[in-house]
Amino acid sequence: MQSQVKASVMEAIGETPVVRLGRIFPAASVVAKLEYMNPGGSIKDRMVRHMLRGMPSGTAHVVESSSGNTGAALAMASAVMGLRCDVTVPDTTSSEKVKRIAAYGAAIHLCPPDDYHAAAERLVSENEAHYLDQYCTPLNREAHYRDTGPELWRQLAGEVDVFVCGVGSGGTISGIGRYLKEQNAGVRVIGVEPPHSAYRKLVTDRPAEGVFKSAIEGVGKRQASRSFDPAVVDDVVQVRDEDALDWCRRLAQKEGILAGGSSGCVVAGIAQLLPKLHGLRVATVFPDSGVYYLSKYF
Ligand code: PMP
Repeated sequence: MQSQVKASVMEAIGETPVVRLGRIFPAASVVAKLEYMNPGGSIKDRMVRHMLRGMPSGTAHVVESSSGNTGAALAMASAVMGLRCDVTVPDTTSSEKVKRIAAYGAAIHLCPPDDYHAAAERLVSENEAHYLDQYCTPLNREAHYRDTGPELWRQLAGEVDVFVCGVGSGGTISGIGRYLKEQNAGVRVIGVEPPHSAYRKLVTDRPAEGVFKSAIEGVGKRQASRSFDPAVVDDVVQVRDEDALDWCRRLAQKEGILAGGSSGCVVAGIAQLLPKLHGLRVATVFPDSGVYYLSKYF
């Protein structure tokens, strides 16, 4: 017998289950990878672990701007590694996500939604801290290309035709999408975002008329992030907040999967695409848990 004891929670990241959504999509083949089962509670644990492996030696202080989950992952890792950690989040972030970051001992800075990236940059320059910068660094999508993508491909035994994914920074869709396409060039990669977000116009000829504003945390951006790789993405569909939340509640009540609003958003996108997906095997990821939004969505 070999010991299965992990040296820290960082070693418990990954190997999340993939589950068939056979109750909400009985006539289709749709599966979801439950990334909320990571120890920090979201898909961002993997990205943060990868980024910290590449940080300059001697780093004692880290800073990140986040819609909440990256902040929690970084706060968790900082606790394990003994790093000082500052996280800037939009002041629209759910209270559970804010408290979760603070509970790990990190300093949290609530900022106007238009200022949380700039606030992180100010903290970095004032403190000589290391900025992870998920919206710019190639390490974001590389984490999913090296880790999440191969894990998903192996769990699916290669049986996937379409990968549908919510887009926030764009790291998840770009990294997993690229890996899947390298295994099978026929795999289609489709992004999902709220209305008026910036990504659809990068890969289609449909413009982003209107001002982006959404209550769904984690997906959609007013300005596209550099972590999004348009070369990997074949199409992007947009989903209204009401539909995202409706599917989020159905996920909980029909599948027993209590996932966050961005998971509802991607399921609403799949429901919208369903007529075009006939006979195809669809896979997606659920980035975080509905537990973080109990006061907001349920
Ligand atoms: N859903 C949630 C809840 C998130 O926190 C994020 C990250 N912003 C995403 C989806 C999108 O992931 P990515 O940043 O890799 O596009």
